[in-house]
Amino acid sequence: MSDKPEKFIDENGLRLDGRRVNEIRPMKMEIGVLSRADGSCYLEWGKNKVLAAVYGPRELHPRRLQKADSALIRYRYNMAAFSVEDRIRPGPSRRSIEISKVSREAFEPVVLTHLYPGAVIDVFAEVLQADAGTRTAAINAASMALADAGIPMKGLVSACAVGKVDGQLVLDLNKPEDNYGNADIPMAMTADGEITLLQMDGDVTQEEFRQAVELCKEGCRQILEMQKETLKNKFTKLEEVEISDDEEDVDVSALVESTLESLEEDETSENDEDIEEEIETDDVEDAESGDEAESVEEQEDSFQDVDEDDIPEDNDEDVPEDDEETA
Ligand code: UDP
Repeated sequence: MSDKPEKFIDENGLRLDGRRVNEIRPMKMEIGVLSRADGSCYLEWGKNKVLAAVYGPRELHPRRLQKADSALIRYRYNMAAFSVEDRIRPGPSRRSIEISKVSREAFEPVVLTHLYPGAVIDVFAEVLQADAGTRTAAINAASMALADAGIPMKGLVSACAVGKVDGQLVLDLNKPEDNYGNADIPMAMTADGEITLLQMDGDVTQEEFRQAVELCKEGCRQILEMQKETLKNKFTKLEEVEISDDEEDVDVSALVESTLESLEEDETSENDEDIEEEIETDDVEDAESGDEAESVEEQEDSFQDVDEDDIPEDNDEDVPEDDEETA
């Protein structure tokens, strides 16, 4: 029995999940969620849950795969076995290999790979829960993970799908729209609207296609805003930490100053005691050896008065020990 709904859009223009045709599903993202990855992002979009991790740039092994003039981007899209109702067989499938390829190509025009010849940038996108639009969700997360890893890029990549249900174009397909709609057109683009991924499943007219691109641009613009906001939040937080560190510095320096002052006071009194102690010890030693105490200046003068010719050219062994000399 098919679960195909009779209607996807009601008389009020609302879709099955209550969205308007040009609305995307609620999205939230967080970056820096994995400590071992150079960059990472966890993204929820509707019921989709995706984790992206970026490693690199790092030296590519085996070396025969290295590119002499640029870094290689490797992208692995994977759906967890538990991500959908029917268990997904672990390991690569035709679908996941295809998605990995087109997603890698979505980043190649923006990542400044020429800066890292011989290196590899690994992008892993793990779909933990799938509910239509996982390749676009993964691209959005991967884009953030790349930025989080500090990989130089011309800009962020944002992705969204446009589809057709009930003869109307709709933005960001949900599961029934994806499964039973007339068309599914996932796209990825840069902030300038340069399309880096475009796939199409189903039929649309040329005019509908043009409108689909415009609709998708609007969706990607909204996603880009969220991506930028997430990055800004992270770096604003870092700045705050730095500011509070500075404040601590001020306190610390004040503390250091007052500690130094009190140390100076202590030192003066301790020095007095030391001097007294030294004088007492010297007196005892002098009395024992019968030598006269030399002032520091006198010792220095006598050191400077030594004629260079008097110093043996040979190694240190020939230089008599102080004790021996005085003995
Ligand atoms: N799906 C599934 N099993 C699979 C592949 C996909 O149940 O082996 C579901 C999953 O919810 C996915 C949706 O079908 O999000 C649409 O898949 P599609 O191939 O269109 O890719 P996506 O829209 O996720 O990028």
